[in-house]
Amino acid sequence: MNGYMNNTPPVAILGALDAEMRLLEDAIEGLDYSETGHFRFSAGTIDGVPVVLVRTGMGMANAAAACVMTIERFNPNCVILQGTAGAHVPDLHIGDIVISNMAMPTHFVSTPSRPAGAGSNALEWTYLSPTTFLDDNNTHAAEGIPATIRLLNIAQDVPYAEGNLVTGIVGSGDIWNRELDRINNVHDALGTLCEDMESYSIAQVCQECTVPWLSVRIISNSEFHPEEELDFTTANTCQEFIRALLTRL
Ligand code: SAH
Repeated sequence: MNGYMNNTPPVAILGALDAEMRLLEDAIEGLDYSETGHFRFSAGTIDGVPVVLVRTGMGMANAAAACVMTIERFNPNCVILQGTAGAHVPDLHIGDIVISNMAMPTHFVSTPSRPAGAGSNALEWTYLSPTTFLDDNNTHAAEGIPATIRLLNIAQDVPYAEGNLVTGIVGSGDIWNRELDRINNVHDALGTLCEDMESYSIAQVCQECTVPWLSVRIISNSEFHPEEELDFTTANTCQEFIRALLTRL
């Protein structure tokens, strides 16, 4: 009998794309499968640990919607988001893993006013937080959501031989930045080590629902090094790391 049917709260493991979930899905035992739209839920056990694996689809809204469904339906004891990311600093390379101590919104922005014909300059945009306009009329500077320290500490101790294992800020937005000036601008303003399209929205949901969370992102591309183009085989390496993490939770 799997953990879900056994009423043991599972560990929820979320990932955006097939390539980021397939290895874990293949490892699951006692599969109890369901779908809502394109959201895919696979409950069961991996190495004896009750899990629910969720393929969310890409981007902030998909991740948030799937995370809410996961929490309401499976009552997980924590949410671990994992997958690929782009580097925001030159000393991270393909295969390095960033464990989030915080998630930051990188694409919750406001632009200066410009007349028609005056063009656009992303380097002049202001970074804000979704808390802006929530309870007052003031704008709020971009503010991160801290990850759960207990999970962070466990992840930091997982042996990892495929690259460096570092801890830092993961930035997220519905944007794939390939302009180095823009990447440096985001990093300087928000302190991000890497970017993805899901972590901050998962953090928002978990904060509201008081569920422990962590994001584990493997570098799959870096604009700082022209030869380090998108390598999606890294998604497998990340899932192997998550499998090792699971048994330590
Ligand atoms: N279809 C694209 C791949 C999209 S990958 C292509 O083949 O070019 C997008 C996913 O990877 C998102 O879920 C995001 O979380 C992650 N990702 C990896 N690198 C990223 C980067 N540099 N910027 C934003 N998201 C990135």
